[in-house]
Amino acid sequence: MPAPLDRSAAWPYENGAPGPFSYARADHPTGVAAERRLGELDGGRALLFPSGMGAVTTVALTMLRPGRTIAVAAGSYYGTSVLFDHLAPWGLRWVEFDQTGPPPAGADLIWLEAPANPLLTMPDFAAAAAHPAPVVCDATVASPLRVKPLEQGCDVALHSATKVLAGHDDVLAGVATVSDDALFDALHLTRRLAGIVAGADAAWLLLRGLETLEVRLERQEATAHALAQRLAAHPAVETVRYPGFSFLLSFDVADGGAALRVERALRRIENATSLGGVRSKLESRHRWEGDRCPPGLLRLSVGLEDADVLWADLAQALAAA
Ligand code: PLP
Repeated sequence: MPAPLDRSAAWPYENGAPGPFSYARADHPTGVAAERRLGELDGGRALLFPSGMGAVTTVALTMLRPGRTIAVAAGSYYGTSVLFDHLAPWGLRWVEFDQTGPPPAGADLIWLEAPANPLLTMPDFAAAAAHPAPVVCDATVASPLRVKPLEQGCDVALHSATKVLAGHDDVLAGVATVSDDALFDALHLTRRLAGIVAGADAAWLLLRGLETLEVRLERQEATAHALAQRLAAHPAVETVRYPGFSFLLSFDVADGGAALRVERALRRIENATSLGGVRSKLESRHRWEGDRCPPGLLRLSVGLEDADVLWADLAQALAAA
């Protein structure tokens, strides 16, 4: 049976004292049901947030202090480093490093992405775990079915649940999972005090999406695999990045102009941002990331459509490159 959808913001005290649920900014039953399921998937204690960035913000505010430095994986999700820039007035600093090797000495928090969006490198987990600083791994592009950061020695596993976990492009959500009870309590406190809390509807939609996560991911991955091979053999494609699993790949055409022509020529694949949903999406990341990203890079998130239909659309769009 689906979890009950309880939209209450407050619940009556029991015999004059707060029961397990009293005010939804702390916890609510639908959120706790989603957290239980997410915790099982990641192998720890999960906290739900209203977006992936809500999870990133809560982790940063809880685990960092003014003057501390975050070592962020190069080529990882652009929005994360934009947020860290935005937090500079609060004394946070960040540096980029190549996550396929050891993090820089002196970093106070290591921020990995498995695999990185959109450059699709995988972190060296052993090198990160050997560093004295705590390690956060954003595994949005892998999902907990493919990478479990806590088992790899990380302190926090983080996901934008907006993506493949919910899977239908109809809800924003985020999750951070930890094994350490003190860290769980500290994150929960920041979330409650700051009100960075997902509502019951978001939790319910996420739970419904999780019911089909395994079959969606298997099919999206099989199609992504086939498309990566076909793209690699196409004369207009210079580089294909695909880590061998996941629904996400990126490839380069000659330059920024060619990338924009391919985008506009698409008929079936949506020319839109985001990833992990049931409908395939392609976009030039250069429009958001500037010089951080090759001008000809196109990021393709593979959905549930038929592989041949997707290839036909890509092939006709690449003719415009
Ligand atoms: N982490 C990764 C890897 C992402 O791709 C994104 C969004 O694209 C986020 C975090 C942020 O998630 P949200 O958009 O749910 O805030």
